[in-house]
Amino acid sequence: MKRVGVIGGGQLALMMAGAAQKLGIQLVVQTPSPNDPAITIASETIFAPIEDAAATAKLATRCDLITFENEFVNLEALSPLVAQGVFFRPGLQVLSPLLDKYDQRCYLKQLDLPIPKFVALDWNDIGGIEELLLQAQLQFPVVLKARRHGYDGQGTFIVQDIDALKQRLESYFTQQKFQSLFLLEEFIPFERELAVIAARSSAGEIVTYPIVETQQELQVCRRVLVPADISRTVTAEIEAIAHTLLNSLQAVGVFGIELFLTPDGKVLVNEIAPRTHNSGHFTLDACQTSQFEQHLRAVCDLPLGNPALTCEGAVMVNLLGYECAENEYLVKRQQISRIPRSHVHWYGKSESRPGRKLGHVTVLLDTWNRTEAAAIAQIIESLWYGVE
Ligand code: ADP
Repeated sequence: MKRVGVIGGGQLALMMAGAAQKLGIQLVVQTPSPNDPAITIASETIFAPIEDAAATAKLATRCDLITFENEFVNLEALSPLVAQGVFFRPGLQVLSPLLDKYDQRCYLKQLDLPIPKFVALDWNDIGGIEELLLQAQLQFPVVLKARRHGYDGQGTFIVQDIDALKQRLESYFTQQKFQSLFLLEEFIPFERELAVIAARSSAGEIVTYPIVETQQELQVCRRVLVPADISRTVTAEIEAIAHTLLNSLQAVGVFGIELFLTPDGKVLVNEIAPRTHNSGHFTLDACQTSQFEQHLRAVCDLPLGNPALTCEGAVMVNLLGYECAENEYLVKRQQISRIPRSHVHWYGKSESRPGRKLGHVTVLLDTWNRTEAAAIAQIIESLWYGVE
C-alpha cells in the first residue's frame, strides 16, 4: 500500500479520503491543529505548521511521497530535503514560480500568456507610487494583492484612487499581516470569471475538466456553474493555456487555473493554484473521476482517469460561515439535502466565522440551462443564509 504525505489538513485533504480508499492509498497529514478537517481521515498526523520543514522531514519518514493541499510552504527550507531523497509531487521546482503572486505573473508573462498589466510594489515605494503607476501604465481602479499567503480574497483589494491605495498600504504595514511586498495590477472589468482543472502525469499526459463559470462575491468564490456557456474558440484557447502552463512547468498532479473573460471575448489568466481547487469540487459528484482521485492518480503514477461529466451539468454552491459560532447547522444541511440530486459535503470545522468555507453542495442537472442553474443556487443560498 502506498503512503502519501499531504502538507495541509484542510477540506482539500479531507476530500481526498474517498479516492485514497478506492486506490488503496494511506494519507499521512501535516497540519497544525487537531481540529483540522483531514485529521479524521488521516492514517497518521504530524501536528505542525505548514511551513515547518523539520516536521515535513518527519512526515517524509512516514510516507513514500509528499504532495500539497496548501501552498503556504517554505520552499527554501524544504529544498535540502530533496537532496536527502525526499520525493515531492509536484516537485519544488514546479511550485517555485507559482507561490508568490508577482513571480507567478512574471512566469506567465514569460510564457506569453495573456494577463493583466502588473507591477511589484514594496512598502518602501509608497512615496513614489504615482510614478510607479505611470511607468506601469496602470490607471484606477487597480487591484492590490499581497504577494504571498493571500487566499479567498484575503490580501486582495480593489482600490479606487490614490488615497485609498495609500491608506490600504498603511493599514497593511501597521497590521504586519502580509509583510510588505505587493502586486499591483490592472482591474479587469470581466464579463465572467472562468476556471479549469487540469491534471498532468509524469509521462506528460494532460487531461482537462469541463471549463466552469465561477462567481465571486467580495473576492470569495460563492458558486460554480458547470459547464460554462462559452464558445468553442474560448474553450480551445483555455485548453491551450492549460497545456502550455502544465507542460512548461513539467507539472505532475492537479492544478486549478482561474481566468477572466472580458466583454469583447478576450481570455486572461488570473491565477494558477498548484493543487486541487474549489472550482473543481463539482467533480466529486458530477464527473467520472474526481479532481481528488485524479491528483492521487497523477502523483502516484497511476493512469489518469476520465474527467468527463456523468450528467448534463451541475451547480456547486459554497456554504460559507456568516457568523462567529460553534454550530453544526444540521437543520439547514438537511433542508438543502432535500433538493433533488443534491450532494452536501460538510467539512466538520469546529468553528464558523464569516466567509469561512464550512462545506459545499453540488446539484446535478439532467439538462443544462444557466438560468435554471443560477435559480437552484439562489434556493440553496436562501436556505443557507436565510433566517433559521
Ligand atoms: P485569492 O488568491 O485570494 O483567491 P485572487 O487573485 O484569485 O485572490 O482574487 C480573488 C478575486 O478578486 C477574483 O476571483 C476576482 O473576482 C477579483 N480579482 C482579482 N484580480 C482581479 C483583477 N485584476 N481585476 C478584477 N478583479 C480581480
